[in-house]
Amino acid sequence: MTIRPPIAMLAELTHRCPLSCPYCSNPVELARTETELPTEDWVRVFGEAAELGVLQLHLSGGEPASRRNLAELVRAARAAGLYTNLITSGIGLTEARLRELDAAGLDHIQLSLQGTDAEMADAIGGYRGGFMRKMQVAGWIKAIGFPLTLNTVLHRRNLHQLPRALEMAEEMGARRIEVATVQFHGWALKNRDALMPTREQAKEATRIVAEARARLKGRLVVDYVPADYHSDYPKRCMGGWGTTGLNVAPDGTVLPCHAAQTIPHLTFENVRDKPLSEIWYQSPAFNAYRGTGWMPEPCQSCDRREADFGGCRCQAMALAGDAGATDPVCIKSPHHAALQARAAAHAEGPDALIYRIAPGKPLPLIAGAATGSEARPAERIAAENS
Ligand code: SF4
Ligand code: SF4
Repeated sequence: MTIRPPIAMLAELTHRCPLSCPYCSNPVELARTETELPTEDWVRVFGEAAELGVLQLHLSGGEPASRRNLAELVRAARAAGLYTNLITSGIGLTEARLRELDAAGLDHIQLSLQGTDAEMADAIGGYRGGFMRKMQVAGWIKAIGFPLTLNTVLHRRNLHQLPRALEMAEEMGARRIEVATVQFHGWALKNRDALMPTREQAKEATRIVAEARARLKGRLVVDYVPADYHSDYPKRCMGGWGTTGLNVAPDGTVLPCHAAQTIPHLTFENVRDKPLSEIWYQSPAFNAYRGTGWMPEPCQSCDRREADFGGCRCQAMALAGDAGATDPVCIKSPHHAALQARAAAHAEGPDALIYRIAPGKPLPLIAGAATGSEARPAERIAAENS
């Protein structure tokens, strides 16, 4: 099998984040600040990525603005010849910092939106005043002229806000909006009951997106991740395992996808120990689910096998207990009917949200919030946002 170089790399600069979104797909156990790769290692890794063939670098987290030397990292990435995209909640960015990032050569920004008004956004992000700050940041982004993508994560609580999110993308001058229905990885798995959309909501979102794509053609690109538990076929996860992109976690661990560490039998290598190119081409974890040779039936003889590569390996692990199984989202999976029944049950589950509160982080400012730590996650029932 010919292994092509990756096009994109997601650099998770830190897991620190001022928000506490219940849909966060970062792992339950976050990388601690003292384990984060130092700047000189990131600079080396950006150079290795460019040599390997990576074209686009997504600077992510956590909240990448939590790294004080973000502009230095952007400058180094641009010097290596990479197109740089900052994925941010906006919290921690000031106008001066954005201008510094512009001067460093930042090419593009993706701004996340937890809701279309302060009540929803602050309750979901667990950060009072966050929406107002984000709107301010959106204004600075527009004034400086950064190309912008608005990222929205939709779930049972906020799916009705999709039409307004589309309007806001236009008002902010965004070129693209990512409308992603919540994916249940990492912390989000704890909130399946509270966040799972109903089948009717999922269908309505698909209708709104189709209508918006036709209406906004040429003005705004609408990317869409449907509610896969309610779908008949799985997504082409990561464009195919080990084909298009790779993730580098805050501690330097190199992953084929964001959630890959949930697959217990795989061992992942680290940029502190090996060059990126060696990890991409030779590591057993990257080769485990490349191509189609690993596939079981019904995928092996299916004419969609090179379209979706059997779906998501992490989802197969989480839902079928076997990372090598057909993604249970697929109608041909023996687990599909059970998954659809579970989706319907989750959609009628309790509304209480479970928030992550990292050690040392100020409490999200929701009335009635309890204190807690990452080791003993606080379960905060935000009654007023139900
Ligand atoms: S999903 Fe929310 S909590 Fe998680 S990293 Fe993004 S902004 Fe932070
Ligand atoms: S059987 Fe496998 S390859 Fe075919 S559609 Fe389902 S997941 Fe995709």
